[in-house]
Amino acid sequence: MASVRLKNVKKIYDNKVVAVHDFNLDIADKEFIVFVGPSGCGKSTTLRMIAGLEEISEGKVEIDGVVVNDLQPKDRGVAMVFQNYALYPHLTVYENMAFSLRLQKMSNDEIYKRVTAAAETLGILEYLLRKPRALSGGQRQRVAIGRAMVRDSKVFLMDEPLSNLDAKLRNQMRAEIILLRKKIDTTFIYVTHDQTEAMTLGDRIVIMKDGFIQQVGTPTEVFDDP
Ligand code: ADP
Ligand code: ADP
Repeated sequence: MASVRLKNVKKIYDNKVVAVHDFNLDIADKEFIVFVGPSGCGKSTTLRMIAGLEEISEGKVEIDGVVVNDLQPKDRGVAMVFQNYALYPHLTVYENMAFSLRLQKMSNDEIYKRVTAAAETLGILEYLLRKPRALSGGQRQRVAIGRAMVRDSKVFLMDEPLSNLDAKLRNQMRAEIILLRKKIDTTFIYVTHDQTEAMTLGDRIVIMKDGFIQQVGTPTEVFDDP
């Protein structure tokens, strides 16, 4: 289980830009939360502070009641999927998915089990020996998700995972993320500028503007509000 709590979280970049002002949010175990808002409103910064990829200027982030401000990304029990996939071009799909497990010195047998199980769930078993350049955008995105899945993470962080895909593939992958969510029982925090994605994916939606939370609620609550 993994609840996530942000308490008075603030981000001031070195250039004095205040990207996130005073972010307070309690995310329940297994909840699917979507941060939505226009480019530059602070969504990625907030996600990256939860992931440990960006220093928290003020306030604290708790995962399962533990303050993680000073923990390395790998020690936070989170996995992040990026917009640009961030796959290693010289490694096969299998090795891309195995990479973080090899760093943990996991046994080859266990790595094999995890990688093939995730690949099966994602429908990419037949691509395991290919290099990323031989894959379509949708397939690459599945590999990026698979790489996060093998790690047994308590929290799944996704930063605009669909925005590099064309409209048709985006709709298809959105449906797949809904299925994935049913298969892997974790907490999701998902960043997008797309209202449709927010509406269809989120249990709750956090609408952000200029580094502030404007509104938090279920899709019906936030989008039916006049
Ligand atoms: P997004 O809209 O998806 O957040 P951006 O194109 O705004 O992506 O940012 C891409 C990268 O550039 C990110 O790693 C972000 O941290 C960095 N970045 C964005 N704005 C600035 C800035 N004003 N100064 C330095 N780096 C920035
Ligand atoms: P979003 O994800 O909603 O597009 P970001 O979190 O990327 O927003 O950016 C929020 C604000 O912080 C923007 O004004 C952006 O230019 C600024 N910013 C992002 N990354 C950096 C950075 N590395 N250095 C300075 N400013 C940044």
